[in-house]
Amino acid sequence: MDDQLIIEYVRMLSVSLRRQKNITASDIEAVRKIYAMDKISECVARIKQLCGLNIPIVIGCLRGCPDQDSLMRVVKKGNDLLGQHRFQPSPLEVKKLCDSVQRGTTAAFLMGHSNIPAFGTRDFETYKVAIFIFDWIKNYPFETFALSITHELSHIVLRAIRHPLEADEIAVDLTAMILGFHDIYRLGRISGNKKLGYLDDHQFQIAYDEIRRREKIIYL
Ligand SMILES: [Zn+2]
Repeated sequence: MDDQLIIEYVRMLSVSLRRQKNITASDIEAVRKIYAMDKISECVARIKQLCGLNIPIVIGCLRGCPDQDSLMRVVKKGNDLLGQHRFQPSPLEVKKLCDSVQRGTTAAFLMGHSNIPAFGTRDFETYKVAIFIFDWIKNYPFETFALSITHELSHIVLRAIRHPLEADEIAVDLTAMILGFHDIYRLGRISGNKKLGYLDDHQFQIAYDEIRRREKIIYL
């Protein structure tokens, strides 16, 4: 993807996304403190609020690195929790997820969001989604955890507003950055030998600069 397309993606997403309020450094610090106390569910709930997502989210933590069979058992358990909002991944999807977890590039995954009602409808507010988080993330800094969660929540946001770029993983990363987590991405995308997110270093810098530039624009 060339630089102009990254900038065009940022523009397209920025006009569709309405931030509740600017996320401040103290908002982020408050979430960091909760993370340090190992209160993962509360942490996700706070990040969800900051994203302006007022929906119930079921959170599950997974130990170790699952194989395909154990991942299918997790999916079954998730479906029991979600009730009618079921998730039926194909064997190929489960394999891809498993490979990605084993490579260490997936820290969390979503269930149930593909059929989410449109944002703003009454059905949207009661629609249940599940996030499963792999516990290896606890060995990494807060920003790496927060990046993974904001990425997953951004999938929900783009799906809920039926955005034409919803299936594009780069657009999902850009959404999280535009929603106010650009510094979380800056600090969390590379941690030790792990690299999270779908933008390479150059693309990230182009996107970061464009998002910061747009923050300074006052719309009348
Ligand atoms: Zn994704």
